[in-house]
Amino acid sequence: AKGLGRANYVVFDPTMHARAVRLLQLENDLKRALREQELNLFFQPIVCLADQRIIGFEALVRWMHPRLGMVSPLEFIPIAEETGLIFEIDQWMLKEACFRIQQWRRFTEEPLSISVNFSAKQFDQPDLVSQVRQVLLETRISPQQLMIEITESVLFSRDQAAIDTLHQLKNMGVSLCIDDFGTGYASLQYLQQLPVDTLKIDRSFIKRMDVDNLDLVRSIIELAHDLGLSVTAEGVETPVQRRFLLDMGCQEAQGHLFSKPVDGQMAVALLQEKMTN
Ligand code: C2E
Ligand code: CA
Ligand code: CA
Ligand code: CA
Repeated sequence: AKGLGRANYVVFDPTMHARAVRLLQLENDLKRALREQELNLFFQPIVCLADQRIIGFEALVRWMHPRLGMVSPLEFIPIAEETGLIFEIDQWMLKEACFRIQQWRRFTEEPLSISVNFSAKQFDQPDLVSQVRQVLLETRISPQQLMIEITESVLFSRDQAAIDTLHQLKNMGVSLCIDDFGTGYASLQYLQQLPVDTLKIDRSFIKRMDVDNLDLVRSIIELAHDLGLSVTAEGVETPVQRRFLLDMGCQEAQGHLFSKPVDGQMAVALLQEKMTN
């Protein structure tokens, strides 16, 4: 019985315990959050780099927990994916986002696009295409206005059924965007065979752009354009980054330089401000 008790002591890590408790708590509360309308949408403008005009918004989920305050989607989306609540969350986000963009029509001359994030898990649902079609009908927005953002993992870890779903969405007129491009393994040549319209270059590349990977970002943009894909830069924070991207032919961007994600009311204010400018 010599070292045993001591060994047991060492195993107990209070920070790990606290994390496990929080995880359980969040998992439990997330079900309630959906029912009690604690989830909300924020919108981040996507702008035309040349004139900084707003061409669309990305919808981003927010959770205002009654006791814990704002919980980051980086923390609760993985929990939602594990518990299956992600189906309801992404479906709710899709419907809300389309509904809002329909309401905002009167604030713009050109139709705005709305980008919605779909977890890779969504593609496990055989009726995903009809769900999307239903939302488009109900909210009366044109499929051309909707952009669905997926990560490279959808293309790899999933089967042919997921690829078929992408083709069906595309045939409906919905646009598809590869989010966080560069962090996974998708080669541009492979993407070319898929019904993808846009690459969103991951923030980590933009962040290091003025330091060391200017050439890398340039070649991603050039190759993408050669393949007929458009490019959105994510996480643009400085005028220098904007300048580089413009010079490289990148046409669209989002990031704190233009606006952080904002609530619906603020998004409308941004739209009106841009119109009167
Ligand atoms: P993402 O889709 O890559 O979203 C971009 C994230 O970068 C957002 O964080 C946004 O606030 C942040 N961001 C944008 N511009 C800048 C910038 O200039 N600087 C910095 N530092 N950050 C910037 P957010 O809203 O916390 O979302 C985190 C992730 O959570 C998202 O990454 C996405 O993967 C996931 N997520 C958010 N909403 C949803 C949703 O409705 N469904 C699903 N499945 N995932 C979502
Ligand atoms: Ca995204
Ligand atoms: Ca992203
Ligand atoms: Ca990202």
